[in-house]
Amino acid sequence: MLKSNRAIVIGCGVNGLTCAVKLQELGLDVTIWTKDRVEHTVSMVAAAVWHPYLVYPKDRVANWARRSYEAFSALTQHDDAGVWLADGIAIPPKPVERPGWATDAMSVKIHERTAELPAHYSFRSPIIETPTYLPWLFQRFVNGGGVAMEQAVSSFDEAFEQAPIVINCAGLGAGGLANDDRVKPIKGQIVRLAAGAFDRFLFDERDPMAPTYMIPRRDDCILGGTTEPGLDDSLADEEAQIEIMARCAMFEPRVLEAEILGSLAGVRPARDEVRLEAEIVRGKGLVVHNYGHGGAGITLSIGCADEVKAIVATATQMMHTEALNGG
Ligand SMILES: Cc1cc2nc3c(=O)[nH]c(=O)nc-3n(C[C@H](O)[C@H](O)[C@H](O)COP(=O)(O)OP(=O)(O)OC[C@H]3O[C@@H](n4cnc5c(N)ncnc54)[C@H](O)[C@@H]3O)c2cc1C
Repeated sequence: MLKSNRAIVIGCGVNGLTCAVKLQELGLDVTIWTKDRVEHTVSMVAAAVWHPYLVYPKDRVANWARRSYEAFSALTQHDDAGVWLADGIAIPPKPVERPGWATDAMSVKIHERTAELPAHYSFRSPIIETPTYLPWLFQRFVNGGGVAMEQAVSSFDEAFEQAPIVINCAGLGAGGLANDDRVKPIKGQIVRLAAGAFDRFLFDERDPMAPTYMIPRRDDCILGGTTEPGLDDSLADEEAQIEIMARCAMFEPRVLEAEILGSLAGVRPARDEVRLEAEIVRGKGLVVHNYGHGGAGITLSIGCADEVKAIVATATQMMHTEALNGG
């Protein structure tokens, strides 16, 4: 038998929570250690629409994104999960072609330039309302017997004292833990309006430093956004709010009449590519790194967590066999 079937997940954002629930499905006894409670994570600031944005490498991202799309679509059957499907459009920076991640289920259609809009593509996508979805996910984890402890971790050894399996989902904090200086902050801001200002999502990605997006939600509407590499404060500023509203009003003038509920800012945990890989620490156990999701952590969360689950399933089987053989 394994000495322990415990796993520690570091981080309580969307990636930590999703991995924690997936590991419970393997029968593991999972504890989350997190510096911040779920309501204070970057994940809570995300708008969030399923859309691969500011995240690499393209081929792995497409696979994780497609898997998540399928799973989020299935979650629309759960009224209380805060996930539903909406129609919308994206205006890409380069000539419009079918995106690499597209599947038939997404109903992607290419549209020529019109009097109102540049060339774009339309598609169906899950809206994942983070203020509802993350507490719902957290409750699933607790219902599965999980415990979350508010505790900042300074090394993996602390976790190995308690469990042979450790999952690094610490977002921006993951770089410090893993000694990885490729993790970089990219600040982003959104504006919340009262619900009903518009009913389809829109992404204009032509200016990488000033992405314009509009996301309808049930209790509010989100306008975005900003992209500020190197900034890691979460302070929303009024100048950015005015500028975001002006950009969105060019697509939908009604946003200027809607009640403003406030602005929120967060720091995307970016990396030149997502790090999702296993690291065996001899004599101690296994760390699975899952961080660097940039502007698409919600979009990729389920696909990435499925891969983490598969790695852990194989590793526990090997550890089990080794233990049986007296290793
Ligand atoms: C304005 C904005 C809009 C966005 N919109 C979208 C969108 O529409 N769609 C989309 O897919 N994505 C969107 N994103 C990106 C998305 O929010 C992130 O990619 C995602 O939240 C990253 O999740 P995470 O779980 O990896 O990290 P986080 O949510 O940052 O969670 C990290 C966790 O690790 C913990 N932690 C850190 N260091 C330590 C430590 N040393 N010890 C213990 N715990 C630690 C933290 O406390 C936290 O619990 C947006 C981001 C912003 C800022």
